[in-house]
Amino acid sequence: MRIQTILSAILVTLLIAVSTVAAASEVNVYSARKEALIKPLLDKFTASSGIRVNLVTGKADALLKRLEAEGRNTPADLFITVDVGRLHRAKAAGVLQPASSHALEEAVPETYRDPDGYWYGLSLRARPIMYVKGRVNPSELSSYEALADSQWKRRICIRGSGNIYNQSLVASMIAARSEAQAEKWAKAFVANFARSPKGGDRDQIKAAAAGQCDIAIANTYYLARMLKSKKDDAQRAAAEKMAVFWPNQADRGAHVNVSGAGITRYAQNRENARRLLEFLALPDSQAWYAEVNNEYPVRAGVAESAVVRSFGAFKADAVNLSRLGELNAAAVKLMDRAGWK
Ligand code: FE
Repeated sequence: MRIQTILSAILVTLLIAVSTVAAASEVNVYSARKEALIKPLLDKFTASSGIRVNLVTGKADALLKRLEAEGRNTPADLFITVDVGRLHRAKAAGVLQPASSHALEEAVPETYRDPDGYWYGLSLRARPIMYVKGRVNPSELSSYEALADSQWKRRICIRGSGNIYNQSLVASMIAARSEAQAEKWAKAFVANFARSPKGGDRDQIKAAAAGQCDIAIANTYYLARMLKSKKDDAQRAAAEKMAVFWPNQADRGAHVNVSGAGITRYAQNRENARRLLEFLALPDSQAWYAEVNNEYPVRAGVAESAVVRSFGAFKADAVNLSRLGELNAAAVKLMDRAGWK
């Protein structure tokens, strides 16, 4: 009887220990990135750490709203999203908490992470000028600023002002110059649009290739994906008509942005979330992530994919991206005043 009691006590202790380990060995991720673009990497993390990853994917703005609505009841430990404008909004909405990690600080350059550690960039994308080969001589191009010149009248395709990529681009103009100068630029730039903004970045590239405009502004990975498209010949053909021009190489550099992640404020598995973040910043993860997403690694010394490399080396704007997050609201209002639809 006595032995039975002792044995059952031991059993209960063991069960508690096992369930504690089980609870401690998972991490819940809300990701605005499509499952195919992140899941294999999460599987590798599980294989190397034993930590199970529960992935919920969704639209970036919807996931942020969900985090806010769930508050302290959220199951999410890590929030993955794109664009510093959104990462900053998540920080400002109070759904993230700071994480300090020597490994992350080593891996992610200062300009690509929040100064307080609320989010870390995990991949880098650039938003250069793309032009139709043969219709624009690259010697005519120089900077984003110069796209406000009258020679580009009705020759530029770019998506709407509701798009966060454009908001961050405009924020970078404010950061580099002043709000007044950025507004003056935006008004003249908008006057050069070939059409009222519509569609996404791919649509701007397609419109340029189809002759609706000579210049398209788009993120690099869209062009890379179109070039690599095996199923869609029309898309590949459109992309092949385009070339990348790196603007502002004589001054601040081309505008870049990140995809990134932050640990949620009410994370139950904070330590696991930090370990996952650190894993995503490792050289092998960075190489895989950049390859699959056609982005640039944030970590120095990691090679980009062949297609991305074909766009050429460039100087990136060194502004701390968190600054662009802070300027997002000003950029949105400015674009509205400039008549950017
Ligand atoms: Fe995108």
